[in-house]
Amino acid sequence: MKILSVNAGSSSLKFQLLQMPEEIEISSGLVERIGNKNAEFTLKFNGNKQVLKDLVVLDHSVAVDLVIKGLLQNKVIQSLDEIDGVGHRVVQGGELFKDSVVIDDDVVIKIASLNDLAPLHNPANIIGINAFRKALPNVIQVAVFDTTFHQTMPKENFLYGVPYEWYEKHGVRKYGFHGTSHQYVSQLAHQRLNKENTKIIVAHIGNGASLTAVLNGKSIDTSMGLTPLEGFPMGTRSGNVDPAIFQLMQQKEGYSLEKTLNELNKSSGYLGISGISHDSRDIVQAAEAGNERAQLAIDIQAKRIADYIASYYVLLGGLDALVFTAGIGENAKEVREAVCKRVEVLGIKIDAELNNSRGDKEISRKDSLVKVWVIPTNEEVMIARDVIRLQKHN
Ligand code: ADP
Repeated sequence: MKILSVNAGSSSLKFQLLQMPEEIEISSGLVERIGNKNAEFTLKFNGNKQVLKDLVVLDHSVAVDLVIKGLLQNKVIQSLDEIDGVGHRVVQGGELFKDSVVIDDDVVIKIASLNDLAPLHNPANIIGINAFRKALPNVIQVAVFDTTFHQTMPKENFLYGVPYEWYEKHGVRKYGFHGTSHQYVSQLAHQRLNKENTKIIVAHIGNGASLTAVLNGKSIDTSMGLTPLEGFPMGTRSGNVDPAIFQLMQQKEGYSLEKTLNELNKSSGYLGISGISHDSRDIVQAAEAGNERAQLAIDIQAKRIADYIASYYVLLGGLDALVFTAGIGENAKEVREAVCKRVEVLGIKIDAELNNSRGDKEISRKDSLVKVWVIPTNEEVMIARDVIRLQKHN
């Protein structure tokens, strides 16, 4: 059975075609710079990589056509009938979606009703959904939300200390994101611990980054909030700041609300602190070469991550495993080390040599009271699994 996992962003469309239930990647790729005349299409299959440049791709439906033609022309599939289902990543499911769902017109309307909560993401997700529904009208399409895994958070953890009516009238609360990744990775950690009751912290650190406290397989708290801006400093996002910044920047620089919000989303984090780059590879390299602000970027992020680990340790009432995942969590040993050395007091001890190696591995020392693992995430597999699960009930 072949399932397509789709992640549509505002100007990009990523996909992976998976052989299920074996969970083997058949093909993957992306269309970048949608809306432009210099769009790029990359398709990987059978160890081959095809890159088409300077394409006119004015909207997502053209991007979907490119993907489908690419799969057919390169004989990745012989006909569209081979695609048994499509799973779409949707960023914001609000309180409307406690689980993934088979998409129909009503579901699309409900997702659109959440646009105010995720103005950068949900509209793009809907465009992707509509384009695939048009291209493959007879195939089951499923929406998998970043937020559903966190719907198990109790009220005291997801509500802010603001007027309660804001929550009732406008849904102002913490939703959390990266749910499919946190779920995938924590399930594996839970299995490896090989006991019923488990206390796990997942550190998903990529360009976007969040930490989740997982108790017995359920998310009970997470660092991202109403939007993916909350939490600790990321590639370009600030994480938590005092909201009074908005007033000060207006007085000092004449910044509008939108301008400051944009700076907090796009010009902060690694990029803003270092003044060099949003990419951890550049930051690590510059820090090693003695650049103080690059080192500061790593230290500020690690300090804030350590704050979350300490807080979740208390919330969980102890800790069995700390798991690092996503681009930086899986690859940047310097970031893992900077975090772990700050939480040693909790009995979390990593081995420098193990931390140096690559891939899925345990990096904790024998005398560590907490297992520390690097587990590569796989959001596409999680999405494809949900398509199959819901297909059975449909
Ligand atoms: P997102 O999905 O949020 O865009 P990713 O999970 O792809 O982000 O993570 C991107 C980050 O991962 C970048 O900062 C990049 O430097 C880092 N990264 C990816 N591969 C490596 C690597 N081999 N070594 C060090 N860092 C890496």
